[in-house]
Amino acid sequence: MSGERPDLAPYATRSTDSRGRKHPELFKDDRPHFERDRDRIIHSTAFRRLEYKTQVFVNHEGDYYRTRLTHTLEVAQISKGIARRLNLNEDLAESIALAHDLGHTPFGHTGEETLAFLMREWGGFEHNLQSLRIVEELEERYPDFLGLNLTWETREGLVKRSISQQGIPRTIPAEFSPEEAPSLEAQIIELADEIAYNNHDIDDGLEAGYLEEEELVAEVDLWMEMRDLVLRKHPAIEGKRLKYQTISHLIGYLIQDLVEHTRKMIKERGIETLQDVRRAGVNIVSFSPETRARNEVLKGFLQRKLYKHYKMERMRLKAKRVVQRLFEAYINQPTLLPLRHQRRTLQEPLQRVVCDYIAGMTDRFAIEEYKKLFDPEERV
Ligand code: MG
Repeated sequence: MSGERPDLAPYATRSTDSRGRKHPELFKDDRPHFERDRDRIIHSTAFRRLEYKTQVFVNHEGDYYRTRLTHTLEVAQISKGIARRLNLNEDLAESIALAHDLGHTPFGHTGEETLAFLMREWGGFEHNLQSLRIVEELEERYPDFLGLNLTWETREGLVKRSISQQGIPRTIPAEFSPEEAPSLEAQIIELADEIAYNNHDIDDGLEAGYLEEEELVAEVDLWMEMRDLVLRKHPAIEGKRLKYQTISHLIGYLIQDLVEHTRKMIKERGIETLQDVRRAGVNIVSFSPETRARNEVLKGFLQRKLYKHYKMERMRLKAKRVVQRLFEAYINQPTLLPLRHQRRTLQEPLQRVVCDYIAGMTDRFAIEEYKKLFDPEERV
């Protein structure tokens, strides 16, 4: 493999040291491993479907808001920027970022919670593990194997990215050495995800009128500080431009803090090789304690004012009903499933087949399907 960047840090992940792919392949060119992974992810069906999956606002609520796809692109952009500044492998960070939400259901976390509940006696459902399932089994594109046959490192990043940040208990497949910390490139994704969604949710929330700018100024000191900074530079700025510039400064501030604090951690913990990263026992990629605390205030604000807004609750109720009723309909009468999915029940339990089918749906497809099955006026 050629094309490895010459300025990679000694603790970066190298394509040339990859633990490789599950299935041996004859390649048609000599792209480095992680670049090939990225290209395969972008060409996958699951990636295109992100366009019509909910981030926070259900897709048909309006064209302004982020979808899973535009959210994913923002996460990839932030991840690459951080990777570059830390001399880490941008291609690997980008691959994991582009694939990080592939396993999301329609209707965001509500869809996930509903499927997890319905699957509670059948092995459960969790979107990170579903991302892995998509790239290992569900995509059908290549002649000799199922899935995308991505490298071990990209797949590891998908299942391990958020373990210690959020303390979410999760079954990590033994193949990915659950006792070891993920690569620095994988560690970036969780925080790049957070930087992206905190900022775009403020933007979307203000646009929707669910959030008030005065409340942000009063309750979130990070917001007030960035806003003051913008106003000092551009005293006449107002309205949307002030909002966009404040968000831009906030993203810049968070990235800067993350990069500086991570450099400090690398030094303090004596990280010299990728092995050191894996054995460190803590996440090296991190915000400074001060910024983390200030960021928590922002997250708490969004939690109270946006995610728990009564209109959000209404969307959640509808979403839950759609997922639940579709699931029950297919389980009670599997002949409602398209033939391709009916055939899969020969190899897998019906519940898992139905779960995969629903998880793969976009919001609008799920709503159409709901109408087809339950609205007598609708064509089947
Ligand atoms: Mg995400």
